[in-house]
Amino acid sequence: MSMIPGLERPAPVPNEQTKPFWDACNARRLVLQNCTACSRLHYPPTQKCSQCGAADTLEWKEVQGKGHIDVFFVIRDSRIRGFRSAQPINFAVITLDEDPGINFLSNLPGTAPGKVPVGAPVNLIFEPTNTGQLLPEWQVAT
Ligand SMILES: [Zn+2]
Repeated sequence: MSMIPGLERPAPVPNEQTKPFWDACNARRLVLQNCTACSRLHYPPTQKCSQCGAADTLEWKEVQGKGHIDVFFVIRDSRIRGFRSAQPINFAVITLDEDPGINFLSNLPGTAPGKVPVGAPVNLIFEPTNTGQLLPEWQVAT
C-alpha cells in the first residue's frame, strides 16, 4: 500500500538497460551507473558515459540516496489515472547529496500537498506500484 491515500503509481516496464535498477529497488537498494573511467554517476540508466563518452565503463554502484528538496510543484489535474484519485499531489525535484548532478522526482509521502519545505533534507524510502515493483521515493527527514 502506498503511504499516499488513493495513489496508484504507474509501474515501470523494465528493459535490458533499466532492469538492474528496478531489481535493486525491489531489494530496497538504490543503484546508479558509475563510470569507472571518470567517476561520474548517471541516472536515468544510459548506454555510455555522458561526461567522457566511454561505453564499457559503466558499473552499478549502490548509493545512500539522501538528498534535498530543490523545487516542487503540485499537480491538481493529472490525466494519469493512478494519480487522479490522489490529487492534489506533490511532485518534488530531489537533488542527491552524493552527486548534485543527479535528480529524482518524488511525491513526498507524508508531506501535505503544497506544504513542501524547500531545501529540507530527505531520506530514501521505497513505495509499491500495483504490480509489486518498488519505486524509490523520498520523505522529509525528521
Ligand atoms: Zn566517464
